[in-house]
Amino acid sequence: MLKIENLHKSFGKHEVLKGVDLSVETGNVIVILGPSGSGKTTLLRCINFLEKADSGRLSFKELDLDIPRASSNEISDIRKRTAFVFQNYNLFRNKTALENVTEGLIVARRVKKSLASEIARRALDKVGLSGKYDFYPHQLSGGQQQRVGIARAIAVNPDVILFDEPTSALDPELIGEVLAVMKKLAEDGTTMVVVTHEMTFAREVGTHIIFMDDGTIVEEGTPDDIFVHPKEERTKQFLRRIT
Ligand code: ADP
Repeated sequence: MLKIENLHKSFGKHEVLKGVDLSVETGNVIVILGPSGSGKTTLLRCINFLEKADSGRLSFKELDLDIPRASSNEISDIRKRTAFVFQNYNLFRNKTALENVTEGLIVARRVKKSLASEIARRALDKVGLSGKYDFYPHQLSGGQQQRVGIARAIAVNPDVILFDEPTSALDPELIGEVLAVMKKLAEDGTTMVVVTHEMTFAREVGTHIIFMDDGTIVEEGTPDDIFVHPKEERTKQFLRRIT
């Protein structure tokens, strides 16, 4: 469904992605692991043009783009087919949970307000926030705020949801509720690319694991390939440190 080839991205002289390939099929849960600074977030942000890669190709269903030459229409098309869940939730502080979810539907996708509210309520129900429609972010826990972030992603019915370390800003006791929602989405067949340090989630929910280091994919495979039979020394070292 989504394919990225030979992606390069530098910030100034610092080459952060050094030729990365990624392939995502419908229903996949791709988990990207790797040490801090290895380029995981940048890769995710390049997929939906939150960052523009310096070179590389991106195919998304019938679209096939040379990334640096992508037109603004093509970029906006890719953005509409993807949704991003941010580490720090990125909610509007002055909007309720419901309004945070309807905003993208009404503004970017021109859905009528009444229909947007109905879709948003359904999305909030799905992440276990039925009683919180009218709560503002400051009235919600971090876990609940991130679940609003996930509801906002589901509501636009994207082809793929990109999760950028969705639990890393949370207190340990709140991580489980967010991972449980993500697991449920995966079980429902949602296509997801997830940058995370949550190894249990990666093992149990991931269909394909990618280990990145220093701007390249060092090793990839099934959870069993990576966690039980890693081949590369760098993968083994990383797993020893983190587990
Ligand atoms: P990871 O997600 O694996 O921790 P990142 O993709 O966030 O890695 O970052 C990879 C490298 O790129 C880091 O050295 C980081 O400092 C650098 N970097 C990321 N974003 C920017 C930016 N907007 N400007 C300059 N450097 C950046």
